[in-house]
Amino acid sequence: MKALVFHGPGKRSWDEVPDPKLQDPGDAVIRVDAVTICGTDLHILKGDVPAVEPGRILGHEAVGTVQEVGPSVTTVRPGDRVLISCITACGRCRFCRESAYGQCLGGGGWILGHRIDGVQAGYVRVPFADTSVHPLPQEVGDEAALMLADILPTAYEVGVLGGRVTPGDVVAVVGAGPIGLAAILTARLFAPSRIIAIDPSGARREAARRQGAHIALAPGENPEGRVRELTEGLGADVAIEAVGLPGTFELCTRLIRPGGRVANVGVHGGPATLHLEELWIRNVTLTTGLVDTHSTPTLLRMLAAGQLDVSGFTTHRFPLGRMEEAYEVFEQASKTGALKVALSRT
Ligand code: NAD
Ligand code: ZN
Repeated sequence: MKALVFHGPGKRSWDEVPDPKLQDPGDAVIRVDAVTICGTDLHILKGDVPAVEPGRILGHEAVGTVQEVGPSVTTVRPGDRVLISCITACGRCRFCRESAYGQCLGGGGWILGHRIDGVQAGYVRVPFADTSVHPLPQEVGDEAALMLADILPTAYEVGVLGGRVTPGDVVAVVGAGPIGLAAILTARLFAPSRIIAIDPSGARREAARRQGAHIALAPGENPEGRVRELTEGLGADVAIEAVGLPGTFELCTRLIRPGGRVANVGVHGGPATLHLEELWIRNVTLTTGLVDTHSTPTLLRMLAAGQLDVSGFTTHRFPLGRMEEAYEVFEQASKTGALKVALSRT
């Protein structure tokens, strides 16, 4: 089969590699029908994620058809169309029993395209298939389902649930990439009174408005002042950080009202400054975390019921064999306007 192989920082190629085989009783081998590229794949290619060794097949967001399952797999069968979650879970350890799959102690967690070969390939071996893949209802198409592999559960769990968005809240979303946009979409499920998106890119601000942000500002347009104008000088109830820079994290802490919540979703490449000397007296709550994907079944039901519209997320489409071109379009997002790039077998 063909696969996108990481060959060390800055190097990747679409190579011929052996097909994956079942290795453990809980495994499934899945034919990849649709797959997308994540900002995290670009971090890996830059060399920011040292656990990824040269030779690794990248990718952790896909939809496919089950080909073969190990003897202990009970929830899926060959022929089933499934969503492959970005988080794999043994389902048995202390953390998995609390649905904290991202912290799985039994060999799961974020492993696909990280510690084991990923999904940007013709086929993939998925361990712990019972808890790591989700059968897809017919009414959910491949492209929509792809948005549930990572970006929707991440934005919803770490951003919206982490920040405890409540009806009537004023919510600031800093960063309107796929994660920030998914945070806007899923925050709306809780009927906030205002969503203010902040992003330097005009195209991303436009996308934020399309997802339902009431106001979209560039960082230079005095977001702090604008948020205070809207909130009787107090600040936002919730600020969701969806960039991963020290400055945007600090902006979130300044945007928030006394007793408000800052939910950090961004992956930070280094330390950020935390002004505890200012935050303690204002009773600000800070949360962060790796996605668990415990919400995937819920989000899948909402997608099937038409309660979530993810049709605006995929901006570019390619056949699977044009993976290199798809990466180029995704890497040049500021020029191409790419949000999510989907590749499909057909
Ligand atoms: P992205 O790079 O596509 O989007 C980031 C957005 O931030 C861009 O639109 C960019 O224009 C904007 N931005 C840059 N500087 C800014 C500034 N000063 N102020 C406001 N906006 C600014 O990334 P993404 O795929 O949307 O992911 C967002 C973050 O979430 C990344 O750090 C990613 O690694 C992280 N992430 C976290 C988890 C998790 O489990 N916590 C999972 C997946 C991704
Ligand atoms: Zn991802």
